[in-house]
Amino acid sequence: MSHAATTRVQEYIGDPVSDSPPVDREKLEEIFQDIQADLRFDHELNGCLNCGICTATCPAAHYYDFSPREIVQLLWTENLEAIYDAMQEKIWSCAQCYTCAARCPFGNSPGGLVMLMRETAIKHGMESAKSVLRPFSRVMLKLISTGNQLSPDMINPEGFADWGPNISKVDAPLATLRKAIPMPTLHTTATAWEVNLKTSVELYTIWEETGVLDSLETIDENLFDVIMDIMDEKRDDYEDWLDEQDD
Ligand code: SF4
Ligand code: SF4
Repeated sequence: MSHAATTRVQEYIGDPVSDSPPVDREKLEEIFQDIQADLRFDHELNGCLNCGICTATCPAAHYYDFSPREIVQLLWTENLEAIYDAMQEKIWSCAQCYTCAARCPFGNSPGGLVMLMRETAIKHGMESAKSVLRPFSRVMLKLISTGNQLSPDMINPEGFADWGPNISKVDAPLATLRKAIPMPTLHTTATAWEVNLKTSVELYTIWEETGVLDSLETIDENLFDVIMDIMDEKRDDYEDWLDEQDD
């Protein structure tokens, strides 16, 4: 008699009240193993008293349907379905302030565990990761291509419509104002400070070697292509500059 036919372990896990397609158990195990395999996992999770101190001091728990105690418990008890479920929405509520890590009597870091779950969500190209990161594509483009997160010319009525009338206070002759700053490296408007070619090329190597670009390709292929074009161009410029020095 086959035991497979009578097993109580479901092969596919779905949410009975949503239209989202069920996920197979193998995928859930793969996701949990990726979280657990990270070198930081054993450092961030030492056990859990279920005392709730982390949730009591968590700012995100005050405003959202989110509890660091719950996240830690899910990982500690290896609740694969609920871990996957939390990765659809809850983990994106954490503000990464690490108040929880400072307070936990067990030395856990719930915020650090959330970070591992977020990185895994990105690695697996989860829709939740894509939709959370989509509004930040302009900032990611600036950060990865120049090493600057924001630049003066991004602060304009179009870029910060949610600032309302206050945006007029920064709607000023930027190039002139920036020149009034004593440090010459800050006389730029397209970047927050001047980043030389060598530094840019070194940054690109870091993004490549640390897997940042692979992650970006998984969640936003178009943005990845644009950034690759910029990187190729800057690398060519750097090579030309090096050739000029040899002449
Ligand atoms: S993670 Fe720490 S603070 Fe939070 S419930 Fe567990 S033991 Fe308590
Ligand atoms: S790091 Fe995240 S989970 Fe921890 S206290 Fe801050 S918001 Fe809450």
